[in-house]
Amino acid sequence: MRPLIIPFFIPHAGCPHTCLFCDQRLISGNHAPLPPAEQITATVHEWLDRSPGRTAEVAFYGGSFTLLPRQTQEQLLGAVQPLLAEGAVQGIRLSTRPDALDADMLDFLAGYQVRTIEIGVQSLDEGVLHRSGRGHTGQQALEAIQRVATAGFQVGAQLLPGLPGDSPAKALDSLRGVVAAGAQFLRIYPAVVLSGTGLADLYRHGHYHPPDLEEGIRLCAALLREATTAGCPVVRIGLQADDGLVPGQTILAGCWHPALGQLVKGELFYDLVLQLASRLDDRAEMVLYCHPQRLSEVRGHGNRNLRRWHEGGLPLCAVRTDPLLEQQQIRIETVRQKLKDSLITIRNHKEYTYA
Ligand code: SF4
Repeated sequence: MRPLIIPFFIPHAGCPHTCLFCDQRLISGNHAPLPPAEQITATVHEWLDRSPGRTAEVAFYGGSFTLLPRQTQEQLLGAVQPLLAEGAVQGIRLSTRPDALDADMLDFLAGYQVRTIEIGVQSLDEGVLHRSGRGHTGQQALEAIQRVATAGFQVGAQLLPGLPGDSPAKALDSLRGVVAAGAQFLRIYPAVVLSGTGLADLYRHGHYHPPDLEEGIRLCAALLREATTAGCPVVRIGLQADDGLVPGQTILAGCWHPALGQLVKGELFYDLVLQLASRLDDRAEMVLYCHPQRLSEVRGHGNRNLRRWHEGGLPLCAVRTDPLLEQQQIRIETVRQKLKDSLITIRNHKEYTYA
């Protein structure tokens, strides 16, 4: 079972930058000041009471943790130390920028038993980074991933495909680059235009058009397939649904949906079934089999895949589960044929572009 992540958001705190796309206060849904030690302790125990027996980690997300004043970092990390000592939680994780992770900082974090560091890479393409006002290079991001991994931390990379100047090919290259550098897990946040950001100005003046929902689903599906094939887990796709994120109000445009992860995973199965079906000689009485834990993704969010297969003329009689299948596998049976394949082995997916 994955550890329980108990998050504390430190929106935009410590960050002197103004990235084109960022409104951390909105994204993290939190306008409150930094949490005091008593609040951290109380919140952790509340979470643990609701999930007894789980291993747990405290997470400091939002903003750039390692750019906070050192004293503030000590206060936050220090508040977790008694919880670590008593075994209530087993680790600390935090997110920050690639250029705020030098060797001294890593020593400091190791001393406070930080276990996992998530690095906001967004893209490795220099043009995309420059246009987004990131203030660091792709090479710095790669070096940070390598440094953090070598120092013994678990390291994750956050990617933000679809920014100005990005393309699906560049986004895939960025993913391959961070995985090759040693990222052990990924978060993929396709671009959304949040009100009050520089990206919103570009969008309003017609200088930027993010991938829309369907384009973003296809793009994220290609990225997820690549990560899955490389054996690198994607732990999150899309911004968390939150009261502060309202399409048409705070979200002006882009790829956002409260169930984006499920839509993206479903897209991979949609493609896989089409490809398997195209290899059939005869489609009579076609039945689809998948692992039980993948049934909802195979059917698609709101039966989206079933509907599209039907509208596309695929004569599917039923979708059934088979626990002997691997989670990535699909089997199609007809009167005369049985075909099986896996999300990991298919490569022939469609390419998608966006402005
Ligand atoms: S570095 Fe991170 S927190 Fe700071 S503006 Fe950029 S995206 Fe936002």
